[in-house]
Amino acid sequence: MTIFSRIINGEIPCYKIAEDDRFFAFLDINPVNWGHTLVVPKHEEDYIFDLDDDELAAMTLFAKRVAKAIKEAIPCKKVGVTVLGLEVPHAHIHLVPLKCEGDMDFHKKISDPDPEKMKQIAAAVSSKFE
Ligand code: AMP
Repeated sequence: MTIFSRIINGEIPCYKIAEDDRFFAFLDINPVNWGHTLVVPKHEEDYIFDLDDDELAAMTLFAKRVAKAIKEAIPCKKVGVTVLGLEVPHAHIHLVPLKCEGDMDFHKKISDPDPEKMKQIAAAVSSKFE
């Protein structure tokens, strides 16, 4: 079982943003910028482009709803989208609020982010999710 499945199952804590019957969104534990969120399918699949068409399309639409919530909760110009998947073998989309290109620099992660700030950001984004 992947670490993200264990988060979805509630075995490992996370800063949850939203979920529906098929997808789950939570804050990245080492964000590249405040509000950096991961969107994952509940169904375990390593490579995002191995998801079937219906699941990939639905995941994109779920990510769109999460991105809208991020944009409303966190001052930014746009919400950037990245797929890496080199570390955790469970398909996921990174959503990152951007004011400039450098806000999406994966070499500059915030290590050991303040838990209270993460909690506040998760609550703010979550409250805007529709
Ligand atoms: P990648 O697979 O290369 O897209 O990177 C995986 C991402 O998952 C990284 O940005 C990690 O910081 C993030 N990550 C790993 N473990 C956790 C966790 N327990 N909770 C939240 N984010 C995590």
